[in-house]
Amino acid sequence: MATTPTLEELRTAIRGGGLRATPSRLAVLELLHRMRQPVSHADVAAKLAPDGWDPVTLYRNLIDLADAGLVRRSDVGDHVWRFELIRTDHDANAHPHFVCTECGIVACLPPIDLVIPRAKAPRAVRRREVEVQLRGLCDACG
Ligand SMILES: [Zn+2]
Ligand SMILES: [Zn+2]
Repeated sequence: MATTPTLEELRTAIRGGGLRATPSRLAVLELLHRMRQPVSHADVAAKLAPDGWDPVTLYRNLIDLADAGLVRRSDVGDHVWRFELIRTDHDANAHPHFVCTECGIVACLPPIDLVIPRAKAPRAVRRREVEVQLRGLCDACG
């Protein structure tokens, strides 16, 4: 399991993305470190708003962190952005996501190899600019 980064490590990561390490960006990044699956802005706001963070600011922070390459944004098909941390032990482009068709929870699955003959694959597949998604019922809904 990934260890929780120190405040200084979080600051360094944010500055490495070319951003100022504001307190709310630090709070958002720290939360994404703790979450084990992609989360929506609503999830982030629900966790951090009680601490006094403004949901609009949190949304901007998520977008900033995504634009800076620290966080990955994905749409699992319900037009809600989910955000997850990009980390070396967790290559977001290489692992599929499981999406529950009932409750909408998203879980990361272990990386898989796409076995598609190169000649038959569109450029995006060869470049891994695609998302692999499995849909079905989660344990709680199934
Ligand atoms: Zn479910
Ligand atoms: Zn994931």
